[in-house]
Amino acid sequence: MKCCYFKKNRVSPRNTPKKERDYTYDITIDDSYLNETIECATCSYSFTLKDNQILAFCGGCNKFMHCGIAGSCVGPNCTHIIDGEVYRQTWCKKCVPKTVIINLLDMGEGKSCLCQECLDDPNTPSCYKRKI
Ligand SMILES: [Zn+2]
Ligand SMILES: [Zn+2]
Ligand SMILES: [Zn+2]
Repeated sequence: MKCCYFKKNRVSPRNTPKKERDYTYDITIDDSYLNETIECATCSYSFTLKDNQILAFCGGCNKFMHCGIAGSCVGPNCTHIIDGEVYRQTWCKKCVPKTVIINLLDMGEGKSCLCQECLDDPNTPSCYKRKI
């Protein structure tokens, strides 16, 4: 009979002290992450997370940078709401299209920019897409 067959072959979950192990593992990862040297994609200056530098991660070239930041993209593809807070993807000056006014004026950390993908997206408000 089928039901008996399944009962016989059922694998019982093993009792492993997994939680304790994971905990130690997490700590090790955190420490090495803080000590890891990050090279700025723009000026090649090396720093670690402990240095408290301005740190941005470009959504285009996937590199860290502490200068040469174009800003945070205002488009729908780069806007994420995590735990009720709005997060916008940061982009470096090299990766944003140079034809849009928003990318040429007022650049920098915490400022607005528009990436190529969001420039092409019909859902992006046209006021951001004004060109030179
Ligand atoms: Zn970039
Ligand atoms: Zn830099
Ligand atoms: Zn974007």
